[in-house]
Amino acid sequence: MDFDVSDELQTMLEMITSFINDEVIPLEGEFLHGTPEELDEQVRALQGKVRQMGLWAPNHPVEFGGLGLSMLEHGLVSEALGRSPLGHIVFGVQAPDAGNVEILHAHATPDQRERFLRPLVAGEIRSCFSMTEPETAGSNPTLLETTATKDGDDYVINGQKWFTSSADGAAFAIVMAVTDPDAPPHRRASMIIVPTDTPGFNLVRNVSVMGHAGAGHASHGEVSYQSCRVPQTNLLGDEGEGFAIAQERLGPGRIHHCMRWLGIADRALELLCDRANRRVITADGETLADRQVIQHWVAELDADIRSARLLTLHAAWMIDTVGAKAARNEISAIKFSVADTMLRSVDRAIQVHGALGVTDDTVLAYWYRHERAARIYDGADEVHKTSLGRRLLRAAAT
Ligand SMILES: Cc1cc2nc3c(=O)[nH]c(=O)nc-3n(C[C@H](O)[C@H](O)[C@H](O)COP(=O)(O)OP(=O)(O)OC[C@H]3O[C@@H](n4cnc5c(N)ncnc54)[C@H](O)[C@@H]3O)c2cc1C
Repeated sequence: MDFDVSDELQTMLEMITSFINDEVIPLEGEFLHGTPEELDEQVRALQGKVRQMGLWAPNHPVEFGGLGLSMLEHGLVSEALGRSPLGHIVFGVQAPDAGNVEILHAHATPDQRERFLRPLVAGEIRSCFSMTEPETAGSNPTLLETTATKDGDDYVINGQKWFTSSADGAAFAIVMAVTDPDAPPHRRASMIIVPTDTPGFNLVRNVSVMGHAGAGHASHGEVSYQSCRVPQTNLLGDEGEGFAIAQERLGPGRIHHCMRWLGIADRALELLCDRANRRVITADGETLADRQVIQHWVAELDADIRSARLLTLHAAWMIDTVGAKAARNEISAIKFSVADTMLRSVDRAIQVHGALGVTDDTVLAYWYRHERAARIYDGADEVHKTSLGRRLLRAAAT
């Protein structure tokens, strides 16, 4: 196992951390209170600075303008960016685009690469990933009902999706649809690229989540595909490969998420410590930091975050060295355990802040609302625990 960081990467991490602290975190007040339009201008200005620093799109392929970092390296970058909700978008590696870049890079035709991948990595357009449906269990996508039927040279797509994150303002969606209902369950569906200006692509609404419908990149769209016609040349990969490609997208995506969550957990702990040290709770000047319960929380969180970090770096190192398939157990383990650590860190930081913790005067309440979903998307806790437990038990029986 080797988690050594090159001098070059160490310098890059230091530059990113300073930029997040000095330029991105100060924008959080406006992010939490301002309008999306005002923020858009400022985010673009910061993105320009990131490009000038040569740090744009760190994990994306070099031939398309990224820095081509390995999984382990990008994990460390993702942790540094995760310290602010704006970090990933300012550096051009936000979900769901980052996952779409990976699968386009691996499976797109030369034409699809020029039309969709190149402008996506350049940050000229945004994209979305449209798999989950309101009426079928997302935890078992073999049940999905959206169809793509061949008609002449086209596919005609019909179905209802929701939680198509960032559909609002996206230039295209990668849609998972059934292309052969009679095939074995894991060969029924395919991925198809659908430009969002195609007639029949209807963004019904941005679904309100924890009281906020959001807008633009920060939204979760309900999309109705009604006789939505695209050329068959928009198929991504081969027909029937939808599940295999989805699996490819999810493995590395979980490293990105987990390292981003560790950035959140770290910053929440920092905010907790800062508040505990400053908040005077007795006439003698004692602070919250003088109370044993707070000291125990800090100690427990520190140990939990450091173990979660090592688990995640180990999983990233496994992906880099033996591939995502062989790292299935490690990936499942981090998905539920890191989400749990991150949510506990945010929750305890809110508790230490008292009433201030549930206001939007700090970033904590934003994370509490938006990161709860970490235990649901990209495989719910229970699904990962079941598959990991089952595999471990089988291995123990042999
Ligand atoms: C913030 C957010 C962003 C998202 N972004 C996207 C996106 O961009 N594109 C997209 O296509 N989808 C997206 N999703 C959808 C996400 O992938 C699904 O919510 C997820 O797959 C779970 O599917 P479901 O919601 O239908 O829950 P269900 O499948 O109905 O499951 C509900 C619950 O049942 C339990 N459960 C399910 N299966 C099992 C089992 N086998 N054993 C034990 N318990 C089980 C789990 O607790 C689970 O949370 C997003 C979701 C959220 C919350």
